[in-house]
Amino acid sequence: MFKGKNSVEDLAICGGKPLFNEKLHVGRPNIGDQAKFLDRVKDILDRKWLSNNGPLVQEFEKKIADYIGAKHCIAMCNATIALEITTRALGFKGEVIVPSFTFVATPHSLQWQEITPVFCDIDPRNHCIDPGKIEALITPRTTGIIGVHLWGSACDVEAIRSIAKRHNLKFMFDAAHSFACSHNGKMVGSFGNAEIFSFHATKFFNTLEGGAVTTNDDDLAAKIRLMKNFGFSGYDSVIYIGTNGKMNETSAAMGLTNFESISTFINANKRNYTAYQEGLRGIPGIRLKTYNEQEKTNYQYIVLEIDENVTKISRDLLVNLLHAENIIARRYFYPGCHRMEPYKSYFPHAGMLLPETEKVCQKVMVLPTGASITPAEALMICSVLSFAIENASLVTKSV
Ligand SMILES: *Cc1c(COP(=O)(O)O)cnc(C)c1O
Repeated sequence: MFKGKNSVEDLAICGGKPLFNEKLHVGRPNIGDQAKFLDRVKDILDRKWLSNNGPLVQEFEKKIADYIGAKHCIAMCNATIALEITTRALGFKGEVIVPSFTFVATPHSLQWQEITPVFCDIDPRNHCIDPGKIEALITPRTTGIIGVHLWGSACDVEAIRSIAKRHNLKFMFDAAHSFACSHNGKMVGSFGNAEIFSFHATKFFNTLEGGAVTTNDDDLAAKIRLMKNFGFSGYDSVIYIGTNGKMNETSAAMGLTNFESISTFINANKRNYTAYQEGLRGIPGIRLKTYNEQEKTNYQYIVLEIDENVTKISRDLLVNLLHAENIIARRYFYPGCHRMEPYKSYFPHAGMLLPETEKVCQKVMVLPTGASITPAEALMICSVLSFAIENASLVTKSV
């Protein structure tokens, strides 16, 4: 029972003992058939072809390109390097318009190359870049737009496309959250000049570490392939500036194995999402982000918006209470990229132009899901939230 003390440990519901023995994390890895993975790894070792466009990387690229319906898939060591390479290959320089409500890798991939990320506010309905606010940010230095598809949905691709066209800008998408999702019936992966996926361990589909660029543009794909391999066009022949963005064979082995279980992962997420929907129904002040059932989606994130005026208990205190029960809920993209360094120092007043981003950063809470969480656990997590809100007045605000 909450005792109204100042330490989070005192707040644990069962007299100081957490409700869950093990920590339930957001983004706990989904792992497919272990035996198949190990077989593939054994093959890699026998073959002694560990990296440099090995057979498993090639097979993986083909599977992903076919699945998405994109002409090219270039597998990478991670999505951050994929972002750096793709923005460079597209010739981005000067300023590029991006949302601040994203993982910090999106603006970092630009700043790393001394390209200025210009932060655009978001649409509070889908938390993605608000196309209505893009044009006001375009200057003679602007060279591109990066939309970020969040939470297993897509941003407003059509509106961004028409703005980009009108101003003769290139545009691409950070689709790290939206592998296996569709937008207007078409798979995410072939919108804009290119799209980037992350297959990091915490994403619902992982290659240990990894990422990919997908595109329908032949020239761009060729350029990106050179760039991710130091610019080598053959033995002893470097024809371009490049870096090392290659995916290794073990990652591809994990990717191929997990790809065989992708519908299992999605179904587990969907089943948990349904349990959360049921468990959260009727809890005042909590809104669960819904998925559009008309589209394909990965149900990857359980995203809540907490209305503190109604709950009478702050989002941050709820997060602390959940942590005391070993439910490792997370504030997402908090406090917003514009409040992180170096952006905070470069643009100390950016928040004034980002009112919706600021509000959403204060409201959002993400709950654990994935194949290792059961619907029963999801319902228990909802009960903790319900209990905390019902007893809000017993809990001090000073935690
Ligand atoms: C995870 C993530 C990235 C970075 O992916 P890595 O593969 O870890 O480099 C970039 N953007 C967004 C939106 C992400 O969620």
